[in-house]
Amino acid sequence: MKLTFLGTGTSFGVPVIGCDCPTCASDDPRDRRTRHGALVDLPSGRLLVDAPPELRLQLLAAGVTSIDALWLTHTHADHVHGIDDVRALTAQGGDLPTWTAPEYVQQLQERFRYIFDDSVRPPMGSSKPRIVLNSFEAFESITLLGEEFIPLQVPHGGPMVYGFRVGGLGYVTDAKTLPDRVLNKLRGVDVLVLNALWFGRPHGSHFNIEEAIEAASQVGAGVTYLTHLTHRVRHSELLAKLPAKVLPAYDGLVVDVG
Ligand SMILES: [Zn+2]
Ligand SMILES: [Zn+2]
Ligand SMILES: [Zn+2]
Repeated sequence: MKLTFLGTGTSFGVPVIGCDCPTCASDDPRDRRTRHGALVDLPSGRLLVDAPPELRLQLLAAGVTSIDALWLTHTHADHVHGIDDVRALTAQGGDLPTWTAPEYVQQLQERFRYIFDDSVRPPMGSSKPRIVLNSFEAFESITLLGEEFIPLQVPHGGPMVYGFRVGGLGYVTDAKTLPDRVLNKLRGVDVLVLNALWFGRPHGSHFNIEEAIEAASQVGAGVTYLTHLTHRVRHSELLAKLPAKVLPAYDGLVVDVG
C-alpha cells in the first residue's frame, strides 16, 4: 500500500493570501501547503481522499491519470470544493464510486445539484462529473477496492468527520479528539495520519500540535504524520521539535505502508 499526501494545509492553505510571515515567505517547498487531500494506492485500485480546491493541480503534480474511488471525510469547503475536477477523470471512463457518511449525502446533493440531479444536463458539448454516492455507517466495515475499510467517526467541533483504517494505515483528519472507540480501531497501525494546526492555543474543532502528539502516543503507531497544518509552523521547525515517530507531512510526500 502506498500513501501520497496531495495537500497538507489547513483551510486557508499556505502561503495565506496577503501574509508575509516566515512560513508564507519561505522558499522551502515543504512550506507550501495546498488544502487537504491524499491518495491511497492499493493492489486493486487507487482511492482519493477528499476533493480539495487544488485537486486538479495536485493530481497533475502527482502524475495521476485515474482514480477508482473517492472517500469524502466531511463537507467543509476545503475538503470538497474541488469536486468538479474529477470531471476530467470520469469524462473518459465510468462513474466514480464515492463514499461518505449518510449525513453528508444530502448536503452534497444540495450543494452540487448540477452534479447529482439527473434532470440537470451539462451544456451541449460539455460534461459533468459522474459520481455515484454511497454511504457507510460509522465503525461498520465496508469492502472497498478489495480491502476492508473501517470508517472512523471522530468529533470535529460540531460535526463529525470520517477517517478510516485500512490494513496498517490509520487516516484521520480534522479531529478534535480521538474517542476510545477510535483509539481501539487504530491500535497496531504502522502508519497513522493526524491533523494538527499549530503549537499553543487550543482550537475548538482541530487538534493543536500538542494534542496531536498526545493522540499519537495513545495510538502508538510505527510512525505518525501530521497534516492540515497552518502557516504558524515551518516544516524545518516541526522536524526539530516533534518527538520520535512523529513527522510533519508535506505536499507530494509518498509513504510505503506495511
Ligand atoms: Zn503566513
Ligand atoms: Zn473540517
Ligand atoms: Zn479541513
